[in-house]
Amino acid sequence: MGNLWTEVAAGCFVRRYDPFDVSCGVVVGGEGLLVVDSRMSTAQGRELADDVRTLSAAPVRAVLNTHLHFDHTYGNRALRDAWPQVPIAAHESVPEGLLADEARIKGRYAADVGDPHRDEILSTELVAPDTLFASVWSIDLGDRYVEAVHPGRGHTEGDVVVRVPDVDLVYAGDLVEESGPPAYGADSWPLEWPQTVELLVGLLSGSSLVVPGHGAPVDKDFVLGQRVDLADVAGQIQALAADGVPVDDAPARGSWPFPVEHLVEAVRRGYAQLGR
Ligand SMILES: [Zn+2]
Repeated sequence: MGNLWTEVAAGCFVRRYDPFDVSCGVVVGGEGLLVVDSRMSTAQGRELADDVRTLSAAPVRAVLNTHLHFDHTYGNRALRDAWPQVPIAAHESVPEGLLADEARIKGRYAADVGDPHRDEILSTELVAPDTLFASVWSIDLGDRYVEAVHPGRGHTEGDVVVRVPDVDLVYAGDLVEESGPPAYGADSWPLEWPQTVELLVGLLSGSSLVVPGHGAPVDKDFVLGQRVDLADVAGQIQALAADGVPVDDAPARGSWPFPVEHLVEAVRRGYAQLGR
């Protein structure tokens, strides 16, 4: 994996961080930088800020959170400290969801006394995004534009992808995952996720590079393949519910494209969204 920046396209960098193999991105423009996601604690955010400074002495113009999950947002405090007043952009649903999830996340780490990241998570002060949008946001970095698009609900309610048109690159957050199956959590939208990825596919060309939230960069064909699997999951959930299969029995009854332990929440959420 290597703990170094990779220049995946001209002036567009990715660095994969443990734990969780989370990818952070940096887009370098003539008048400053955009940082995509902030890692999972203030301490890790500080490390990220130091790493960003190794790329460029230019100021960070904005930070963007691809979605509300703590491994992408809890470093916001450190980035705000490093670049005061820097806007932190995200989908409009993110601030409320981020704060609402704080007790659950910190409670989980509080209970896990053996976790090496327990103390840094518990001492992290959340900083919610303050530059919010429903559909589209863009920033001019001087000699290049970067666009952020909310293609719909999927991994979470407020997933955002970041597109750098001049190099045909997309930072996709956790709408696309390469190092493991797509993560269906208790805040996922399994029935809508395929359509959301369909819209993402519409932003891609045959030569686009897509940076997942976790894992190595992929191409359009990979995203199309993941869309097929997501649609398979959604279709099976709908069919099982229509057949009257109880929600607790449904995971074992499906023939899933991913290991069944990754589908339990998908089924539960899908049933709930169907009113079952
Ligand atoms: Zn996530």
